[in-house]
Amino acid sequence: MDGKCTCGEIRYRMTRKPLIVHCCHCTWCQRETGASFALNAMIESTHVVLTNGAPDTVATPSNSGKGQAVMRCPACRIAVWSHYAGAGDKVCFVRVGTLEQPDQLPPDIHIFTASKQPWVVLPPNTPAFEVYYDRKQLWPPESLARMDQLFARQSR
Ligand SMILES: [Zn+2]
Ligand SMILES: [Zn+2]
Repeated sequence: MDGKCTCGEIRYRMTRKPLIVHCCHCTWCQRETGASFALNAMIESTHVVLTNGAPDTVATPSNSGKGQAVMRCPACRIAVWSHYAGAGDKVCFVRVGTLEQPDQLPPDIHIFTASKQPWVVLPPNTPAFEVYYDRKQLWPPESLARMDQLFARQSR
């Protein structure tokens, strides 16, 4: 799946399906997007390949207090993905709206629904959590295995 920033300087390709797609309704994501939620596809950084340009890293405060690195186009400053403190730079949180076909990645899980805008109506069959959730209970086994593999490699 291909994605790009608004001016087209940054182009990238996701070479594997994401681990999971989060729709986050926290107030931080609302502020960062200027909208009502963020749609993030989590994927191993090795499966996000730049096909044009190089994004700038912008250190940005985050909900956890540990900060995030937001990767932005050096020209139009649109954010294409973030790295959060938890998984570090091994995992990209790709902004689904920057993909050419964002409709291919609907949310697997809704999080921080306690601060969801009241007019956002969640689909009945998608898991939703007031705050966060336990990955081991919600992720497909294949995604859990990919995550284990990623961090096994890191600790060696
Ligand atoms: Zn750009
Ligand atoms: Zn959020």
